[in-house]
Amino acid sequence: MKRALSVTREENFPEWYQAVVDQADLAETSPVRGCMIIKPWGWGVWELVQQALDKRIKDTGHENCYFPLFIPMSFIAQEASHVEGFAKEMAIVTHHRLKAVDGKLVVDPSSELEEPLVVRPTSETIIGDAFRRWIASYRDLPVLVNQWANVVRWEMRTRLFLRTAEFLWQEGHTAHASKDDALEETLKMLEIYRELAEDVLAMPVMVGEKPENERFPGADATYSIEAMMQDGKALQAGTSHYLGQNFAKAQNIRFQSATGELEYAHTTSWGVSTRLIGGVIMTHGDDDGLRLPPRIAPKQIVIVPMLREKPEDADLLAYCEKLKTELDGLSAFGLPVRAHLDKKPTRSANKRWDWLRRGAPILLEIGPRDMAGDNVTMIRRDKLRDGDKVISTGLAREQFLAQAPGLLAEIQKNLFDEAKARLDGNIRADLKDFDAIAAFFGAASEDDEKSGFKGWVRAPWSRPTGSELEAIEARLKALKLTLRNVPMGQGQPSGACVFTGKPAVEEIIIARAY
Ligand code: AMP
Repeated sequence: MKRALSVTREENFPEWYQAVVDQADLAETSPVRGCMIIKPWGWGVWELVQQALDKRIKDTGHENCYFPLFIPMSFIAQEASHVEGFAKEMAIVTHHRLKAVDGKLVVDPSSELEEPLVVRPTSETIIGDAFRRWIASYRDLPVLVNQWANVVRWEMRTRLFLRTAEFLWQEGHTAHASKDDALEETLKMLEIYRELAEDVLAMPVMVGEKPENERFPGADATYSIEAMMQDGKALQAGTSHYLGQNFAKAQNIRFQSATGELEYAHTTSWGVSTRLIGGVIMTHGDDDGLRLPPRIAPKQIVIVPMLREKPEDADLLAYCEKLKTELDGLSAFGLPVRAHLDKKPTRSANKRWDWLRRGAPILLEIGPRDMAGDNVTMIRRDKLRDGDKVISTGLAREQFLAQAPGLLAEIQKNLFDEAKARLDGNIRADLKDFDAIAAFFGAASEDDEKSGFKGWVRAPWSRPTGSELEAIEARLKALKLTLRNVPMGQGQPSGACVFTGKPAVEEIIIARAY
């Protein structure tokens, strides 16, 4: 059987990634540097991710709302570490008019804004400003809001979905009366991200707390979900922040407590973005393109009639239409099955590869012989390379219909299990000093693809802070390594910190990362 992509993961992982984005019809680069055009198939995936997450956000008591794209520059400046963290990557609007000079369009200097506007890189400050007005008493708390929006961070090195200058996300923002309540919220949303990644995207993750140097600018604590890509690198797939009273103090978000005192609120924020789609590609894609977990496949079962431009085509189409209607009546994962009949006049063989590259979980190829026997021919995308399981012929239509929802669930589970085995099987926990870790990862290569598969290291550490941590960060950086997170729910570590030699207090994940 031929391969559907010109480059394999083994040959060149980054090029393979670009090929999948392109060949699976997910997105393309745009005339605007670092910004992408999300095509209908990619958008369809994003919509399903959105729906699954939006439901969970609402089920946990949050309401959606919308704030402006522009943030007054003075707002951004209110919280010192926040502005420091984002200053280097902000787009700023300074004028509002163009004019023609000698037939050329130029910015009209007389239209300069009194105060420049920042295109939001995140919305803590403008939402915090509203919180100040909305919150007066403990009775107003908690405030639990979320917005679906686009944000702009002027990233220098961009890659479609993974790191773009404009990206789409949701950002949740909440305010609470106590630290305990805010921390509970932060961890609740982290758990929802884990569930989204694992149950919906079939992407297993390591859940944990980021070290101090990787915290969100302005946060007291940042938690993340980290996924292992097929090249062994880590992808930060979502983050949840406990912002303490930092923004509340900077923006005067106060409330009268039950005992009548004025207190600062405790706030949180949390977000996941279109980066998740990049994670799905690098978790499940193979050398034939994308493999989509059925829960996020815009079309779960695609019917391709083997049309031959002959009069018999009409009967074949009628048989396929009926099959589609029958599939539409089924449900999987508590939702109607998404079936599609591809009636385009393209050659059937091309259609097969188009849908396989896009990652449709189940492909039904229906020819006159299938119709005559009231059968279907099925290709399971997840098992495309599993020897003789590639194509099941002569499957009774009735039997397929009875099995279809279960098959989709099985494919979802199969993709998760495969990725979970990769994650669990590639975390080295036996390297007890920095030299051993450096030797394990080997020298950093300029070319990503030459670094090879390494996986992650889980090592004891003493939770160093400040300049001690900065020095460690620099040592790691020279090897292109980063501290990912301190996994939740771990026991007492044994031994000494691999960096400081002091008694370890916990274990941390070290990896190359996106
Ligand atoms: P943050 O507000 O920095 O915690 O970002 C929230 C989440 O957005 C991160 O955990 C990433 O998954 C994602 N993200 C951050 N920067 C980008 C980017 N440039 N492109 C796509 N996703 C991003």
